[in-house]
Amino acid sequence: MSDFIIRGDICTSADKKTIQTYEDSYAVCADGVCKGVFAKIPERYRDLTVHDYRGKLVMPGMVDLHIHAPQYAYRGLGMDMELLSWLDHYAFPEEAKYRDLSYAEKAYGIFADAVRHSATTRMVAFGTLHREATELLMDKMEDTGIVSFVGKLNMDRNSPDDLRESSAEESVAETELFLKDALGRYRNTYPIITPRFVPSCTDACMEGIGKLSERYGVRVQSHLSENPGEVAWVRELCPDTAFYGEAYDRFGLFGKPQQTVMAHCVYSSDEEIALMKENGVFIAHCPASNMNVASGIAPIRRYLDLDLRVGLGSDVAGGQTESLFTAMVEALQVSKLYWRIVDNSCKPLSVDEVFYMATKGGGEFFGKVGAFTEGYEFDAIVIDDSRLPHPQELSTKERLERAIYLGGDIKALVAKYCRGKRIL
Ligand SMILES: [Zn+2]
Repeated sequence: MSDFIIRGDICTSADKKTIQTYEDSYAVCADGVCKGVFAKIPERYRDLTVHDYRGKLVMPGMVDLHIHAPQYAYRGLGMDMELLSWLDHYAFPEEAKYRDLSYAEKAYGIFADAVRHSATTRMVAFGTLHREATELLMDKMEDTGIVSFVGKLNMDRNSPDDLRESSAEESVAETELFLKDALGRYRNTYPIITPRFVPSCTDACMEGIGKLSERYGVRVQSHLSENPGEVAWVRELCPDTAFYGEAYDRFGLFGKPQQTVMAHCVYSSDEEIALMKENGVFIAHCPASNMNVASGIAPIRRYLDLDLRVGLGSDVAGGQTESLFTAMVEALQVSKLYWRIVDNSCKPLSVDEVFYMATKGGGEFFGKVGAFTEGYEFDAIVIDDSRLPHPQELSTKERLERAIYLGGDIKALVAKYCRGKRIL
């Protein structure tokens, strides 16, 4: 890691409703941390190397709060079913293949290569229930240079014979081995406790992994209130709980004692929303997946107004692509349908708001991440939007909006930095 300066047209969230732009300015990185954005290079940084991206858009790296690495293999396939049948017909048969490490090697190699070339600099990922394959995934994630949390799944009920752990004891013991192997082994890759979702985990399993989360100080990720069929099933499976989130909370798997990210939250009740706020649970909004497996539209306007912590997730392969630019566009689009069709008191999201969710909103899960604010870890991407030609004069903000809508992360990404190191 070296100290340096990036020159370009810099875009960053000032707050969740405002993108701030700095034309032809300088973002300073020292010891992996942002020292601020300046119109001229301050005297004390005179000797630093300048990486010159004049005329290009510079923004914080994208944060993907929810993705399934093993499902990357069949992205863009099997979009003809709702969640529960989709899991049985597509997700589970594919994930069962990761018992075979040679398959995992091949598939995770493809996944890691895609991640490396994407605009993502931070990721919270599901593996499979297989400990060894998930450790192999962590090795590959470390090689990409991005910062990630990776989970070995817990599944000890309501799952096919070839994708189910034989008992709660086995599931918890394998998870503990996984934590012992992975904790402290990497610079940028961390283990995370990952009950697949409530239907897949017995109470004994949840209790065991809740204790591990507390004992080892390890965070938690899972799914919450995604689809009507799933929500009804959880009500049947957990008759003693008032709402879905309580089925995690009673085992210490809902934001306390460890930070937690829950994907979807399309059908969260008022009580569930109140507990998410109280416990600081992060919401991973995954609009592509919510459309593809016909789950619905999450009321993100409401969550933002209530000051809940919200970021974006690609949710591959419920979502068809790892592109967070695509996720931003889809979040905008579904918010307009929600306003028009479901609740006209929920005003559509703005570009400023989805940009915030894709950067600083999700970045908060990683600490001071997702903005060019002094003291934030230095993650950046550079987009050469001259590859998306236009005849008229545009402001920097307009260029950013256009690059988001036109797939600038796929067509025009020219550099990527994470924790102050160039990784692409
Ligand atoms: Zn998911």
